[in-house]
Amino acid sequence: MTERLYYHDSFLYSFDATVLESLEIAGKRAIVLDRTAFYPTSGGQVHDTGKLVLADEREIPVTEVADEDIGRILHFTKEPLPKGTVVRGRVDAARRRDHMQQHSGQHVLSAAFVRLFDMPTVSFHMGAESCTIDLETGGLSPKQAEQVERLANEIVLEDRPVTIRFVPLEEASQLGLRKLPPKQAGDLRLIDITDFDLTACGGTHVRSTGQIGAILLRKTEKVKQGVRVEFVCGLRAVSTARQDYATLTEAASLYSAHVHDLPQQIRKSLEESKSAGKAQHKLMEEIAELHAERLLAKSTSPQVISEVFPERDAVFIKLLAQKLTAKRPGVVGLLAAGLGPPSLVFAQSPGHKFNMGQLMKEVMAQLGGRGGGTADMAQGGLPADAVNLTEIEKALRETAARLAG
Ligand SMILES: [Zn+2]
Repeated sequence: MTERLYYHDSFLYSFDATVLESLEIAGKRAIVLDRTAFYPTSGGQVHDTGKLVLADEREIPVTEVADEDIGRILHFTKEPLPKGTVVRGRVDAARRRDHMQQHSGQHVLSAAFVRLFDMPTVSFHMGAESCTIDLETGGLSPKQAEQVERLANEIVLEDRPVTIRFVPLEEASQLGLRKLPPKQAGDLRLIDITDFDLTACGGTHVRSTGQIGAILLRKTEKVKQGVRVEFVCGLRAVSTARQDYATLTEAASLYSAHVHDLPQQIRKSLEESKSAGKAQHKLMEEIAELHAERLLAKSTSPQVISEVFPERDAVFIKLLAQKLTAKRPGVVGLLAAGLGPPSLVFAQSPGHKFNMGQLMKEVMAQLGGRGGGTADMAQGGLPADAVNLTEIEKALRETAARLAG
């Protein structure tokens, strides 16, 4: 068993220890010490990192720390150390402080959810950027979230002492703990936030709630077992707010608006682009109509019309094909567009004698694209730069001649 120094002092960042074992587990090297201040990943809190310093000042980085069921703590390193080596462990203090702020903040937050709305926390996750708790509840309104955030931050401001004590299980069960661990050998380690929260936990915590700094609730979302609440504490709350503000400022400057007017500005510009889209579609219809009339006027019977539009897209030639074939019986339109990847549309007046789908397949086989459709209407596409428009024009002309002949 490794003696867990962090159980008694969360602010111990430097300690002396002796190597008990050097192991290789799943291809990774791990060192077991007789005692450690390195916190292993457990209870939702992420492991510490740091280094082991040898007598000759050589430093061995500790990249990951894990807890084993048998009570050993594994320090993952790049190299092994002989049994009996005396080392000085140094925990990355900034990382630990951040973890303590998030984790202690979670205690306050979970207790506040129980106090105000009787919503117990069923799980906790600490991520690299933000943390989440899952609440057992049917729903959580924005107003409730705000009330909980307010109470949690009041507890932070009151700077209540956070103390650790070890209590036998029978005694602990009389104390009205917020959470009891599922299985436990020996005494329970209780974390007491004075007159606010008492719970069993093996993690590292701040000395008083003031050290949490601030608790900021962010996204809430429905999950299978209830509601997931994302939050950040301490310096993360500051950097997250800073980042959010920078994002909003950048968006606001695009609209030359104040950040608070952004939603209104975005709504307005969405409406504008929607009506611009409608106007553009109407114009496109009018242009297609004009082209249809022009093409029909210049063609002679039998009416097989072929034309390439280098500056138009697939939507336009489809629209034009519909206009052309709807106006008169016995019309065939063989159209191509050059804007974007080249596209082809073949159409005939409803019920006319050819098969456009079949024709499209033949032409596509010749040009190296894919396409098909019904007897009256077919579409095809070519990979960009596969063929040039002159080749397409030639293929259309030949097909038109074949149909006319
Ligand atoms: Zn804890």
